[in-house]
Amino acid sequence: MLHPITRAIRTQTERTNEMEHSTPIFLTSSFCFNNAEDMRAAFADENDANIYSRFVNPSVQEFTDKMVALEGAEAGFATASGMSAVFGSFMALLKQGDHLLSCSSIFGSTHTVIKKYLPNFGIEYSYVAAGASPAEWEAAIRPNTRMIFLETPTNPGLDIIDLEMIGKLAKKHKILLNVDNCFATPLGQRPIEFGADLVTHSATKWIDGQGRVLGGVVVGKKELINDIYLFCRSTGPALSPFSAWVLSKSLETLDVRMERHAKNALQIAKVLEGHPKIASLKYPFLKSHPQHGIAINQMDNGGGIVCFEITGGLDAGRRFLDALQLLSLTANLGDTRSIASHPASTTHAKLTAEERQAVNITPGLIRISVGLEHHTDILADILQALEIA
Ligand SMILES: *Cc1c(COP(=O)(O)O)cnc(C)c1O
Repeated sequence: MLHPITRAIRTQTERTNEMEHSTPIFLTSSFCFNNAEDMRAAFADENDANIYSRFVNPSVQEFTDKMVALEGAEAGFATASGMSAVFGSFMALLKQGDHLLSCSSIFGSTHTVIKKYLPNFGIEYSYVAAGASPAEWEAAIRPNTRMIFLETPTNPGLDIIDLEMIGKLAKKHKILLNVDNCFATPLGQRPIEFGADLVTHSATKWIDGQGRVLGGVVVGKKELINDIYLFCRSTGPALSPFSAWVLSKSLETLDVRMERHAKNALQIAKVLEGHPKIASLKYPFLKSHPQHGIAINQMDNGGGIVCFEITGGLDAGRRFLDALQLLSLTANLGDTRSIASHPASTTHAKLTAEERQAVNITPGLIRISVGLEHHTDILADILQALEIA
């Protein structure tokens, strides 16, 4: 069996008679049958012939197969966005009366799905803080807890949750463990190695890595993925074949991109740490990170996100963004181009000050998604903006 990184490059739909080298796009909504009998057999699930692109499409399957290889999973299903992957994993596997135990430091829209929509279906939830102890996690488990959901590193606070500890807990209590691995990517950490049953991704971020398309994917145990597939094939969050093609080509370079993102991020974090305008800075692979030991244990690199607290709070954070000349102000992360954001005045502005504090979003928190520009240029822009802020 080839190495997963090789498979992310060499997995490809069967070569057509045109003898193409690069993978083609199967931009078609449906597929043909030679005769009535073939069509009947396909609809009766007697073979795995392509029927309709809401169910399966070769370009989408190629991307999915690569993600399955990279995460070390049994199966997968790709979706139109990260949110439809997360939502599909909840709706297919949770039912009325079940309880979802989630970390409170999660992506904003995931929080909305859990808090606003799951209760409409009779699904209970409760939150545990990212810094909770093993005993606190265990105490939060209820007899009807069916799934644990978390992200690590968390967004935007970069807290690290111990996957080995949670994996053991989930196994002990026979609870599904569902990890959003968007921030680390499978080149940074593979939650299945620590006992995760499901891994969800926003492919929009590092996987595309060039800010072009939306996409999502969920990989994991075969029988769970089949339930998610059946839910999605009926409800329709299908990934466009065009976007799947973009994402599949992106996976050919994910390993080298993530290596450079992480190298740039570490170099920048080292210089910025201790800067007089920075009250505190977090990067998982710096010794100063509060969960550095856990990060080293479960991650292959520190990832591409650096966050810091600028002295001067909310106003200084806004002045910092205004002073940037190279870094982009945009609602994305995981791009070749470095991006700066100020969660307290943007993505998390709707939360109350107490709610922000509870998930470690301080007034002066700045999140940098470190791109692939030369690290000296990224650093120079941040340093000059800090002088002005
Ligand atoms: C962006 C993001 C999502 C949602 O993904 P979309 O592709 O925007 O739907 C989910 N989780 C995390 C951690 C994210 O950063």
